[in-house]
Amino acid sequence: MFRYRQRVVTAIILGFLFVCAGCADKSVRVQEFSRENIVMDTLIKITVYAADPQLGEKALNEAFAEFSRINSLADRFSEKSLPDSETSDVYQINQNAQVKPVKVSDDILAMLDRSNYFANLSEGAFDVTIGPIMDLWGFKQTEHHLPSEKEIAEKLALVGYQRIVVDKEQKTVFLPEKGMELDLGGIAKGYATDMAVQRLRELGINSAIINAGGNVYALGSKPDGSPWRVGIQDPRNNNKIIAILRVENTAVVSSGDYERYFIIDGVRYHHIIDPSTGESARQLMSTTVLASSATDADVMSTTLFVLGSERGRELLQKFTNINAVFVDPERNITFSKSLNKQIDILDQANGQVKKEDSEDASSQVE
Ligand code: AMP
Ligand code: MG
Repeated sequence: MFRYRQRVVTAIILGFLFVCAGCADKSVRVQEFSRENIVMDTLIKITVYAADPQLGEKALNEAFAEFSRINSLADRFSEKSLPDSETSDVYQINQNAQVKPVKVSDDILAMLDRSNYFANLSEGAFDVTIGPIMDLWGFKQTEHHLPSEKEIAEKLALVGYQRIVVDKEQKTVFLPEKGMELDLGGIAKGYATDMAVQRLRELGINSAIINAGGNVYALGSKPDGSPWRVGIQDPRNNNKIIAILRVENTAVVSSGDYERYFIIDGVRYHHIIDPSTGESARQLMSTTVLASSATDADVMSTTLFVLGSERGRELLQKFTNINAVFVDPERNITFSKSLNKQIDILDQANGQVKKEDSEDASSQVE
């Protein structure tokens, strides 16, 4: 069921019909180049616009190559998925817990640096040492498991981002206790998206959209000059969009309790874990974060999901350029006040729509 992460978390509403609208009077006509591939267990779709077909194909190749490259560094189950028994940096780090520090790439150091930055700010709501808990619940494996309190307590003793030993000079990472495991699932797709976007920009692409299983990046504007339109999925109906955001040069990343989950006795157990309990975070159904960095948006969507709307809003207040939309268990939609001009709520899904004032933590009902 989870083999291919076809989480159509955030649907992109692409104006295919308008690709060349408004181009008639311009000297250069752009064409659309689009491709889908499964990388990182996720269906990734990239669409670029270019006047030169060779450039369009090259851009797609190189953007996908970035996703594959980051996957080959960050996949903690890499021994199963990589050819020639090559293993990822993260796999090596985990295998060598309590044994020895492992030399890693600059990308892993960058992801850990950013993860730890948000881990500190969120008092550990985001914690990349969550691996043992993910394994315990079996969210990656096909067989799920409802663990006992004792099992959770044992695995929680192995969780703690402060214990990761990073030597930036030597470029090594060390986990001090056997059984500790890094899991970059909350950041790697966002980071890979940023790397792909950087490559597209270097190639001179100024209009593109990437959807990496709910990690969307809208590069530039649509070819007709209008903003990209990114939909937020109804957390309980993946065929329905509850809101549309108009964005340019922005990452729009969603986290939700509908992406990887199982239900036992009517209780939904899902893949976003509150590190303070070792259980699925329960305060929200989904979070969607807008930021100029897809890495930050990815980390923040997971972090805010764990923190819930109240503590999440407090964290958001520390940033002027990161905005969010929350859907709570009563299906109320709350969004940062600064999104006011770029969001359309299509369906309130029986809940209320609230606009949050980012200066003042109180929210007002519209
Ligand atoms: P996302 O889908 O981006 O919200 O990330 C969820 C993924 O991040 C999970 O599949 C885990 O790999 C990982 N994860 C789960 N809980 C946490 C957490 N509290 N902090 C950091 N990563 C987490
Ligand atoms: Mg995330």
